[in-house]
Amino acid sequence: MLTVAADRLRDELTLALGPGGVLTAPEDLAAYAFDAYSDARLPVAAALPRDAHEVAAVVRIARAHGEPIVARGAGTGLCGGAVPVTGGVVLSLARMNRILSLDARNRIARVQPGVINLDLSRAAAPDGLFFGPDPSSQRISMLGGNAATNAGGPHAFAYGSMSAHVIGLEFVDEAGDITWVTIDDAGYDITGVLVGSEGTLGILTALELRLLRTPRAVRVCVAAFDGVEAASECVSSIVAAGIAATALEIMDRTIVRAVEAHYRAGYPQEAGAVLLVEVAGESPDVEASERAIAALARDCGTLAWRSASSAREREALWAARKGAAGALGRIAPNYYIQDATVPRTRLPQAIARVEAIAREHRLPVGNVFHAGDGNLHPLLIFDRREQRQLDAVVAAGHDILAACIDLGGTISGEHGIGYEKRETLPLVFSADDIATMERLRGAFDPARGFNPDKIFPSGAVCGEVRTPSPTLSHA
Ligand SMILES: Cc1cc2nc3c(=O)[nH]c(=O)nc-3n(C[C@H](O)[C@H](O)[C@H](O)COP(=O)(O)OP(=O)(O)OC[C@H]3O[C@@H](n4cnc5c(N)ncnc54)[C@H](O)[C@@H]3O)c2cc1C
Repeated sequence: MLTVAADRLRDELTLALGPGGVLTAPEDLAAYAFDAYSDARLPVAAALPRDAHEVAAVVRIARAHGEPIVARGAGTGLCGGAVPVTGGVVLSLARMNRILSLDARNRIARVQPGVINLDLSRAAAPDGLFFGPDPSSQRISMLGGNAATNAGGPHAFAYGSMSAHVIGLEFVDEAGDITWVTIDDAGYDITGVLVGSEGTLGILTALELRLLRTPRAVRVCVAAFDGVEAASECVSSIVAAGIAATALEIMDRTIVRAVEAHYRAGYPQEAGAVLLVEVAGESPDVEASERAIAALARDCGTLAWRSASSAREREALWAARKGAAGALGRIAPNYYIQDATVPRTRLPQAIARVEAIAREHRLPVGNVFHAGDGNLHPLLIFDRREQRQLDAVVAAGHDILAACIDLGGTISGEHGIGYEKRETLPLVFSADDIATMERLRGAFDPARGFNPDKIFPSGAVCGEVRTPSPTLSHA
């Protein structure tokens, strides 16, 4: 049953957005209580604005009622960023899904935040253009969510993450004012500050994005190795030789078997690890790069080498790679995907540590990673109905992060901090660093009403963060 205050909040939101723009029934709100990491409590309301003015109205109303505001794209985030952990209003950008303009001559698109990532590349294709960042969730995740998390993906190795592609943006601030900023503005780079801010500084209501020219020639090859060590060695050799691959992805045997069972893309199932290599550009260069990479793979002991012979085969290989997490549903009902980085040359040690940690916690693990970026994604496979497995996953996830930090890496490569990793921030930042970041947040949002309980560890607002000992405690 709604309280009087919640009733008034709902009435004001409905007046601003119209009856179809506000949800308050528990069965409707259930869809806004979770993301791909976890669920929490129901929000008081879900608001579905259609433009920046309606977003501004939602912000003003929620503020007046003292309710937190949690922005939500597609809810594919893997660290609880869009979860309303303290209730409040979930502000869904899903209805703001229009491509506002596509300027092929200048290779720039203007979009609303609810445009699905892949839809932009599809719209730009007739002009020989595409959008570079391609998180594996690109069929469903939204460009606003991608910008808010500074998303990467397999091609971030060559093209960079979202921050390299957002050249301007519109946002609604805590007062409900609407502002445009671009990377060309004199003074502070506010665009850069907002990209990756995970909904804690303002609501992104439009983005201006750089588009890339579709390469004339693309090769996708698969090299089989007896293990991750040899595959990683090959990646380091390719980078050291200065060969401009556009993606370098590794999958271990557990992942390959799961994706083959589902996609039948033709990955070798007996290999200990496979390396997916993409090279793109002008035809003669691409052929030369492929030959050079194949030679390096031979030097690293490749067991088999295959080059996709058609666009269809290429797409099948990519669909299988990008569907790796979902394919694990064949092995167990749940998976937990960790996101951490290490210096690329330390990938073999990192994977050995991940496997040892999984054994210690008696959990199966599969490894898929953006090898070119040294970005690991161990997938711990479990059944959440069993408490032992659930506890083991949390503990193993923490141990994996600690191991990666120990190897010179950090706590996130691309998924962000969100709710999941906020207590681990002090493992890589000093109390002074965190206080400085918190002051920046305070400059945008003094009341901390935008996505509270995200990014910063508990105690950060009142300056009580301590830098813990390097060993993570088990939750
Ligand atoms: C199967 C799978 C594969 C994935 N692969 C990748 C990958 O390869 N690379 C990668 O980087 N990530 C990947 N992800 C993670 C996820 O898809 C990305 O983080 C993505 O950018 C989230 O977009 P979203 O629209 O779902 O945002 P949400 O999950 O809805 O939100 C994410 C965060 O952004 C904030 N936010 C959303 N929209 C706005 C807005 N308009 N203004 C302000 N804040 C906003 C939210 O409050 C939240 O903090 C994957 C996830 C899954 C489930």
